[in-house]
Amino acid sequence: MTIVKKSFWDLHSIVAIHNDTAVAAQSTLPFRVHPTHKPPNFLVMALLIRLTRTRDPCWFICRKQPFSSFRRRALLRRSMASDPTAPGATRFDFLVIGGGSGGLAGARRAAELGASTAVIESHKLGGTCVNVGCVPKKVMWNAAVHAEYLHDHSDYGFDVGNVHFSWETLKAKRDSYVSHLNRIYRNNLDKAKIQTIQGRARFTDDPEPTVEVDGRKYTAPHILIATGGQPYVLSDAEVPGASLGITSDGFFELETLPKRSVIVGAGYIAVEIAGILSTLGSKTSLIIRQTGVLRNFDSIISTNCTKEIQNSGVDLWKNSHVKSVRKTDRGLEVTIVTIDPEKKNEEKISTIQEVDCLLWAIGRQPNTSGLNIGEMGVDTDERGHIIVDDFQNTSRPGIYAVGDVCGRALLTPVAIAAGRKLAHRLFEGKKDSKLDYSSIPTVVFSHPPIGTVGLTEEEAIKSRGKENVKIYKTSFTPMYHAITSRKSQCIMKLVCVGKEEKVVGLHMQGLGCDEMLQGFAVAIKMGATKADFDKTIAIHPTSSEEFVTMR
Ligand SMILES: Cc1cc2nc3c(=O)[nH]c(=O)nc-3n(C[C@H](O)[C@H](O)[C@H](O)COP(=O)(O)OP(=O)(O)OC[C@H]3O[C@@H](n4cnc5c(N)ncnc54)[C@H](O)[C@@H]3O)c2cc1C
Repeated sequence: MTIVKKSFWDLHSIVAIHNDTAVAAQSTLPFRVHPTHKPPNFLVMALLIRLTRTRDPCWFICRKQPFSSFRRRALLRRSMASDPTAPGATRFDFLVIGGGSGGLAGARRAAELGASTAVIESHKLGGTCVNVGCVPKKVMWNAAVHAEYLHDHSDYGFDVGNVHFSWETLKAKRDSYVSHLNRIYRNNLDKAKIQTIQGRARFTDDPEPTVEVDGRKYTAPHILIATGGQPYVLSDAEVPGASLGITSDGFFELETLPKRSVIVGAGYIAVEIAGILSTLGSKTSLIIRQTGVLRNFDSIISTNCTKEIQNSGVDLWKNSHVKSVRKTDRGLEVTIVTIDPEKKNEEKISTIQEVDCLLWAIGRQPNTSGLNIGEMGVDTDERGHIIVDDFQNTSRPGIYAVGDVCGRALLTPVAIAAGRKLAHRLFEGKKDSKLDYSSIPTVVFSHPPIGTVGLTEEEAIKSRGKENVKIYKTSFTPMYHAITSRKSQCIMKLVCVGKEEKVVGLHMQGLGCDEMLQGFAVAIKMGATKADFDKTIAIHPTSSEEFVTMR
C-alpha cells in the first residue's frame, strides 16, 4: 500500500477501496497509522461510518477549510440514506419545517456549510413576507405613495389631467411578481441541493425526533421549527358576525378596491393597511380600543402617527370596539361601541353601513397547533410561542425554533438572521453564534413612514432612571412641502443615556424616514454618542441632517 499525499477530499474519493480507507482517513485521525500496517477491520469500519455519516456534524466543522464546498455537499448528500435508528425515515443533517424567511435562510446557509438539508413547506415558499406580508404590502404602499404625490403634482407645475387608478392592474402585477419570487425561491433551493417537501409537517411519536408529511417520515439530528404565524381571528361567539370580516391575508386577495373599509386594530399592520386603502381612495375607518395607535412605540411616534392618520382623512374611532357584524343586501353593517372616558365610561352604540371590507388586524398567533410539539417536550408560552434560549434552542435537544413562531421581534430580517446564526453554530462549529436582539431597526409604512430603532424614551427612563436620560427632539415641515398645499410634518427624537450621551434610541416619522433609518441604526449599533452625531457634517438640504444638528 502506498501513500500519496493528497487532500482529504481526494483521499476520500477512494474511500471505498478497503485497503486504502484507513490511509485515506489518516488525516482525520489523532494518531498516525503506519503505511505498512493493515488496520484491523473494526477500525476500517469505524472510519467508514465516521466518513459517510453526518449525524454528528463536528468532523466537517473542524476540517471545513481545506475542502471545496462542492465536494463536501456531494459527500453529505450521500448521507441522506435511511438510518437504522429511525426505520423508514429519510435522514438529513438538517430538517427545516417552514419555508418562510427564517426557515429558508437557515436551510440555505446550512446547505452552503455542507449539511444535507430539507425544507418542508405546507403552502408557498417565501412564507408570510413574500406571499402575504412585507413584499406585497410594500407594492401596495408604493402605489399609495403615487396616489399621495398626485395631490402635489399641480403645485410642482404638472397638469396630469384625469387620473384613473386600476386596482386590478396593480393586483395582477403584484401577484405575478410574488409568483416570480416563489419560483426564484424554489430554484434557489434546487440549486443548493436542498430537498423541498411539500406538505404539512407534524412530529411523530417515534423516540427520535421525526417528522411526518403525507405519511412519509423524515428525521435529522437537527430539526428547525420556523413555522411563523398567522393573523389572530375572533370567533363569532366572541363577536357575532366576526367571520364576515377578513384579515391581512384576505387583503391581498381583494379583487377590487373596497369603497368602504373598516379596519380594526392599532398595531402596525392595521395602520399600514388603513393608510393604503384610504390613500388609494377607499373611505376608511380605523377602530382602536384606546386613544392612539402604535402604543408599543415611543410616545412621540404614537401621538404623531395618530394625528397623521386623522389628518389624512382616515375616520379614526378611539376608545371603540366592534360589537357585532351583520350582512345586509348593501354590504356589512358594523356595530361599534365607543366608551367615553369623560362621561364616566358611558357607552355609545353606532353603526357603519355598507361596508364592503371589514378587516381584523388585531394581532398574530404562532403556527404551532397540529405540530404535536407538546408531545416532543418542546415548551411554549401561554400564547403558544415556542420558548427558546439565546441560541434558538428549544427545551428539547436537537430541536430549534426561529422567527415569528418564537414571538420575539416579528420581522423578516430577524427571522433570517436567527436562521443563519443557527446554521453557523450547528454546521460550522461557531459555538457562540447567536443573534443579538438589541437595537433592531424597524419601519412602519404609514403615511408618512416611521423609522425607529433602540429604546423608547419610556424604556430608557425605566432602565436607566430619568436623571440619566437626555432627550433631543425636533419637528419641522420637510422642504418637499415648501411649495405644496398638502403638508405633512417630520418629527424626530434621540434618546441618549449617561454622561457620554450614548444614543440608545432614535425615532422618526416623516417623508423619507423609511430609507433614512438603516445608516443611523449602524451608528447606534456601534455605540455612537450624541457627540459623534454632532461631529458629522450635515447633508443639506435633507430631513436627515436634522439628526446631526439637534441641540
Ligand atoms: C401584513 C404583514 C406585513 C409585514 N410587513 C413586514 C415588513 O414590512 N418588514 C418586516 O420585516 N416584516 C414584516 N412582516 C413580518 C414578516 O412577514 C414575518 O416576521 C416573517 O415572515 C417571519 O418569518 P418566519 O420564517 O418566522 O415565518 P413565515 O415567513 O410566516 O414562514 C413560515 C412558513 O411555515 C409554513 N408552515 C407553517 N406550519 C407548517 C407546517 N406544520 N408544516 C409545513 N410548513 C408550515 C407556512 O406556510 C409559512 O410558509 C409583515 C407581516 C405581515 C402579516
